[in-house]
Amino acid sequence: MSRKPLLLPALLFALTPLSLAAFEVDYAALRAARPAAEGTAVQSLTLERDAYRFRFESGAFFFLPPFGERTVGAVFVGSGSWELTPAGETERKHLALLLHDPGLSTTSDQFETAVFLFTDSTAEEIRKGGKPAGPDPRAAEVFDRFLKRERKDFQTNFHLRVLEDLADAVEPKSGVFLAFPEGRKLSLVLAAVDPAGIERLGIVPNLGCEETALFLPDPDNGGFWYLSHLKAASTAAARWPPLARALSYTVDSEIEKNVRFKGTTTIRFETPAAVRVIPLHLMPKLRLQEASFAPAAGGEPAWQKAAFVQEKAEEDATAAVILPEASRPGAESLLKLTYSGKEVLFDAGDGNFSVGARESWYPNFGVFGEPANFELTYRVPKDFAIVSVGTPAGERIEGNTKISIWKTEKPIRVAGFNYGKFKKLERTDKDSGFEVKVYTNPGTPDIIQEINMALRSASRGGGIDAPVPSDLSSPFAAPPSYVGPSSVSVDTEQLADSALVDGVNSARVYTAYFGSLPSPRVAITQQSQWNFGQSWPSLIYLPYLAFLDRGTRHTLGLDATKDFVDEVGPHEFAHQWWGHLVGWASYRDQWLSEGFAEFSAALVLENTGGLKRASDFWEKTRRRILESPHGGGAPNFEAGPITLGWRLASRRTPEAYAAMVYSKGAYVLQMLRMTMHNPASPNPDAAFILLMRDFASSYAGKNPSTADFQKVVERHMVPSMNATKNGKMDWFFQQWVDGTEIPRYSSKFDLKDEGGGKFRVAGTVTQDSVSKDFCVIMPLYFDFGKGKVARFGLLPLMGNTSRSFDVEIKPPQKPKGVLINALHDVLARD
Ligand SMILES: [Zn+2]
Repeated sequence: MSRKPLLLPALLFALTPLSLAAFEVDYAALRAARPAAEGTAVQSLTLERDAYRFRFESGAFFFLPPFGERTVGAVFVGSGSWELTPAGETERKHLALLLHDPGLSTTSDQFETAVFLFTDSTAEEIRKGGKPAGPDPRAAEVFDRFLKRERKDFQTNFHLRVLEDLADAVEPKSGVFLAFPEGRKLSLVLAAVDPAGIERLGIVPNLGCEETALFLPDPDNGGFWYLSHLKAASTAAARWPPLARALSYTVDSEIEKNVRFKGTTTIRFETPAAVRVIPLHLMPKLRLQEASFAPAAGGEPAWQKAAFVQEKAEEDATAAVILPEASRPGAESLLKLTYSGKEVLFDAGDGNFSVGARESWYPNFGVFGEPANFELTYRVPKDFAIVSVGTPAGERIEGNTKISIWKTEKPIRVAGFNYGKFKKLERTDKDSGFEVKVYTNPGTPDIIQEINMALRSASRGGGIDAPVPSDLSSPFAAPPSYVGPSSVSVDTEQLADSALVDGVNSARVYTAYFGSLPSPRVAITQQSQWNFGQSWPSLIYLPYLAFLDRGTRHTLGLDATKDFVDEVGPHEFAHQWWGHLVGWASYRDQWLSEGFAEFSAALVLENTGGLKRASDFWEKTRRRILESPHGGGAPNFEAGPITLGWRLASRRTPEAYAAMVYSKGAYVLQMLRMTMHNPASPNPDAAFILLMRDFASSYAGKNPSTADFQKVVERHMVPSMNATKNGKMDWFFQQWVDGTEIPRYSSKFDLKDEGGGKFRVAGTVTQDSVSKDFCVIMPLYFDFGKGKVARFGLLPLMGNTSRSFDVEIKPPQKPKGVLINALHDVLARD
């Protein structure tokens, strides 16, 4: 035996993988499983899981009873520790920031108790070398405490993830590993390695495909403290293929007078692999009542009952359906789900309703992920109207019920609707071919009363916090709070016309810069939440604020919200391109939606308000990027790179998500635009427009990553962008998108009239606060006064450096001075 080659067992294992029988799904049994009384004692045991190292000095494991051939959980009682060594510098820095330890290279904690759920080889590793151990009453207590935390703190059904692997007979080498150590420093954490992607755990949607995480369910200071690809991964895709891909949704919804909501959704889908358990996204307050499954072969579907899982609404309500048999890869199937619940819609008073569920008011496999076709039927009290995504495909009255049907012409990522009493205004813009409709509520909603109350209680003083856009799928972004004085009555109806004009302006600018949409139609509706907007495919919710004219806002003491009001409409409109036409691969790429929408809003402001208005926007944006939170904490730009997405928002950097993903994301695009700017061309933005149109058309209906966008930029490089002479834009994306440095500039110029219209310009430009490879192409401008400038040169600067120049030029008119960075060409510190 001992003479056998050492590699043989591993090789054999690779050639003949374990063929595990699928566990006949019994969710109830799995959920009811408790640790055994007798344990397995261990000494100096180490479990290595990617970036984690668990060490068990002494103590015992108490296993859950086996399911089929598999042991899938254990409680540890004894003396143990864990350590996490981040896989990359960005993740190391993020952890260092959260733990107030700038020099951190490894973080660790000690524990006496821990719970483990797994479908990998953990049980075998523990048993090897383990000895029998007697009972320990703490084991049952520890596991019960975990179950409570799963429901109350994590509010995520981790049992489901285990069930998926058991039902599909996933092999240990691809199994999931979840650890819940009750540490001395961090008593409530999840240390997870999931080779199928952390997104599969169901904590937060749209995570992309990172496999290792440290997650804290603390609403105040929690989130994903660590989220990374496996250390061993050489190259990794930005996004996993979905477990199940929806081809179409047929959604039939009934809204009763008392705002109770009932629905039946039929999903036509396919799965790349055979699966039994399919997780669903559905707001927990909508309770699943029935699930059926059928092959989608022509004729009447042969429905079979399917089981489903959905724990209590306020707890770990992650929904999933368990198919009666494994799906056949590549074959189309049907899933029919019925559900009902309250609080999907809120009666906001006087014919105004707000849609409380921002995304999953119908069961789905993940919104924003994969576009699908929709047929939507709404049954509502006959005096009310529905404005939905898609196009109207019939409306009739039956008794007291209005039945309104809408269909999509092209696949969309997410469906939404607004509901209430509306007055409609519409216009088709001849220039852009865009049809814009505006729907306002004729009544006075409760929110006006609430505003008045807030105004009265806040009139004692204090400034007004201008809301920042908070929209779309930002799982951790809460609507901003409101403070202000006074009282008001609102007639929003007459303000619809200005919303229409703004919509048409946005449609023209975006069609010119990004190309036309496959369905150039948008309905702008008023929503009762008054201080944020939201964009659905062809449907925009605008907040009350956006419909208030300047005089009314002044009465309300809301002058400080002027910028928000100017920007929210164009921002939401831009999501028709960035977010809905073109998606994004993972949370790390969300700036391709939010940053691009902010940039787009600036384009509209520039087109309607001129360079001065644009300049104000970029200056305000720059300040937001550089700002530090009130009461200490790190400046926004130091919280981390744009690619940390919403993970940037932490207790130490609460504004960093908005500041980096929205504001810096927008600035990155502005810098690209200004680098490509050609003042000599009839349209100085021509090259940039080609780039943006190429990106929009190449990735229509797809979910690009930042790297995909970089490749499109590289297709459109102008010579000055080729700073590293290799046709690559790595230098730009590494420093601005993946990096956190922001340069500072000083300059000195000497301008001399040489006669004959010629001028001699000599000067020095200094760049500092950056590392040695930080590269910027700084534009030089003549200043002709009254805001008029003309670019006369580009000065490349690398690292902390001073560069001088001395040139003779014949400008079109007599300059008053020389400037750098006149059009917010480069993001810079003060
Ligand atoms: Zn947005």
